[in-house]
Amino acid sequence: MSILSRRRWFGLLGAGLMAGSGMASRAEEARPQAAPPKRSGGPEKRLDLSDYEPKSMLVVPETHVERARFPVIDVHTHISFAAVQRNGVAIGEKIKFLAEPSDLLAVMDRKNIHTMVDLTGGVGEGLVAAVQKFQEPHPGRFVVFTEPWYSRSNQPGYPQFQADAIEKAHRAGAKGLKVLKTLGLYLRQNITSGPLVKVDDRRFDPMWEVCGSLGIPVAMHTGDPDAFFLPTNRFNERFEELNHHPDWSFYDRDFPSKRELLEARQRVFARHPRTQFMALHVGNHAIDLASVSQMLDRYPNVHVEIAARINELGRQPRNARKFFDRYQDRIMFGTDAIPLPMGAGMPQQIFGDKLYEIYYRFLETEDEYFDYAPAPKPPQGRWEIYGIGLPDSILHKVYNQNAARLIGVRI
Ligand SMILES: [Zn+2]
Repeated sequence: MSILSRRRWFGLLGAGLMAGSGMASRAEEARPQAAPPKRSGGPEKRLDLSDYEPKSMLVVPETHVERARFPVIDVHTHISFAAVQRNGVAIGEKIKFLAEPSDLLAVMDRKNIHTMVDLTGGVGEGLVAAVQKFQEPHPGRFVVFTEPWYSRSNQPGYPQFQADAIEKAHRAGAKGLKVLKTLGLYLRQNITSGPLVKVDDRRFDPMWEVCGSLGIPVAMHTGDPDAFFLPTNRFNERFEELNHHPDWSFYDRDFPSKRELLEARQRVFARHPRTQFMALHVGNHAIDLASVSQMLDRYPNVHVEIAARINELGRQPRNARKFFDRYQDRIMFGTDAIPLPMGAGMPQQIFGDKLYEIYYRFLETEDEYFDYAPAPKPPQGRWEIYGIGLPDSILHKVYNQNAARLIGVRI
C-alpha cells in the first residue's frame, strides 16, 4: 500500500477508531468536524485499533538472510537474571537461568553467532554461578557481565565496597559491568523508597573508575524510548505498546525527564574518560541520530549497539546508513534477546532464529518495507522498516570486530 493510500485509508478509519487510540494527526484534530462522507453500502464500519492488522500489498524483493555474513558477537542478551526483584531493583545474589547452553548453542550455530554476551550476570554467588554455567564450559561462546549491588547502595562504605566487588567479579570471570535503567528510574535512596538516585550520583564514581583501570567496558542503559515519557494517549506513537505494558510508562510521578537522564549519563562519561562505555540501544536516542552523533563526537570513550532499535534505525534508512558509515568503528551488534518464556510479550526480543534473520536482513540487504519483529503487529510503533545494505567492510566491524576489541573476545 502506498503512503498516500495508507493515509487515505487511516483517514477513513479515523472516525471509527476507538476513543483515545485514533491515528489522526494533530492538524486533522484541529480541523472542524465535518459530516462523514456519504457512502453506499451502509454505515461506516467501526474497527478497534487492537484488531487492525493491515497486510502490505507492496510487491518488492524479499531476501531471506539465514546466516550473518560474518560471525556475530551479540553484545546485548539476557540469559540470566537476578532471581529476586523489588520495585525494579535486584535484591541479593540469587540468580535464575533463562536457558540451557545447549539450547542456545543450537540456534547460535545455525545463525552464525559466535558469542552471546549475557549482560545480566548478577553479583556475588550468582555471578560465579553464571560464569560456571555459560562462560567456563564454552570459552568464547558466552561472555558474562556483572552488575552493581544496588541493595547495598544505602549502606556506609558502599562506594569502596562496590569498587572492590567489581574487582572480585572480574577475578571470577566477569568481562564487563552492566547498568540497567534501574539507575535513574527505579533505585531510590532507601533502595525501594525515597527519592530516586541520580545517574551521576557520586557514590558510584569508584565503580566507574575501577572498570577503567581494569580495562573492562560498562554497558549502560539509561532512560527508555522518549515516547515512554509522554502521556499514553492518541498522540503517542507507541500507544499500543504502552497500553499493553502500562508499567513501562515513566510519564509524570517523580520521574526525571528523558533529557535530564541523558545529561546525567553524559556527565558520567565526561568524569571517567579512561572508562569505556557502551551506551546501549543506540545511546537510547535512536529517534534523533544527530544527537547520538554529537554524543559520540564529544565522548571518544563511548560506543553504541543497536539492540531493540532497528525499529527506529530502519524507518530512517538514509540517516542510519550515514550514521553507520561515520561511526563504523564504534557501533556493535546487539539484540536484547531474551529466551522464552520470559521474552513473551516482547516479540522484538524473543531469542530465536527469526529474531536474528530480521537483524541480518536490516543490516545486509536493501529490502524495503518489512516487519522489524516476528509479530502480527509491529510491537514498537506501527511502521515498517527498510534495509541499509552495509558493505562487507562495515558489516565485519559491526558484527564482530568492534566488540571483539572492546570486550576482549578472540574471534
Ligand atoms: Zn537489555
